[in-house]
Amino acid sequence: MPELPEVETVRQGLLPAMKGKILIKLELNRKNLRFDFDDDLAKRLEAKHITDIGRRSKYLLMHFASAKNKQTLIGHLGMSGKFTIFSHNEAKMRQPQKHDHVVFYLDDGTAVVYNDPRRFGFMLLADDGNWQTHKLIRDIGPEPLTSSFDAAHLATKSSGKKTNIKNHLLNQKIVAGLGNIYVCEALFRAKINPTLPASILATKAGKPSKICQILVPIIKDILQEAIAAGGSTLNDYRQADGNLGYFQHRFAAYGREGKACTNANCGDDIARIVQSGRSTFYCPSCQR
Ligand SMILES: [Zn+2]
Repeated sequence: MPELPEVETVRQGLLPAMKGKILIKLELNRKNLRFDFDDDLAKRLEAKHITDIGRRSKYLLMHFASAKNKQTLIGHLGMSGKFTIFSHNEAKMRQPQKHDHVVFYLDDGTAVVYNDPRRFGFMLLADDGNWQTHKLIRDIGPEPLTSSFDAAHLATKSSGKKTNIKNHLLNQKIVAGLGNIYVCEALFRAKINPTLPASILATKAGKPSKICQILVPIIKDILQEAIAAGGSTLNDYRQADGNLGYFQHRFAAYGREGKACTNANCGDDIARIVQSGRSTFYCPSCQR
């Protein structure tokens, strides 16, 4: 499941290919992905100008405009969604792939193909330009890489909370875009035991605890590093085949059960526990 850095990498890949172009044809090869496409979706978006490609949390935002109105296509990559950039000719000449569900044909000869074998992804239209108030978006907490996510915010949301800190950070109302991978990585680097209650992030007065002040910049660093790694992979991918989306990061804790902890002088192995049905990877010695 892509988390914030993967979606941001896809956004950065789509941006130069789509921004400022006109969508001349939207090809929908089925009536739905995870959800049905909006009625007349192609008709409603064709001939519109793509003004920007944005992101909020794990959602991609394709912003369209005409003289009459503004629209935003809210996209989610689900488990296996992937965009690939071709020229019109390449798109027509190539063997159609089995799960090519959507193709954006742009006025400069670019074709952007959305492929999604498992179809957990979706594209929904916010037709009035008010994507911020769309039901998928309106309750999401602050973006972790903006100044609105800081230790004071996290402490306020954590004060008195008995939920374990792992699940607390997965709550999208508290902070946007974090998933299982980057929460495990942040707690490992901050040396916080994932089973501790979220209340440890706040003092009795509801101010940021020392742990909270350590954790917040680590969350930002880990996401930024992953975005930078994605960006460099993106360049390679684009040179190879224009394929955007999935790439293998090297993680310090996530997926490393039974492997040696990478902290100097530790000597323990990474352990795996299950919290709310999801695997948590951590070092029992470093994260007490
Ligand atoms: Zn360790």
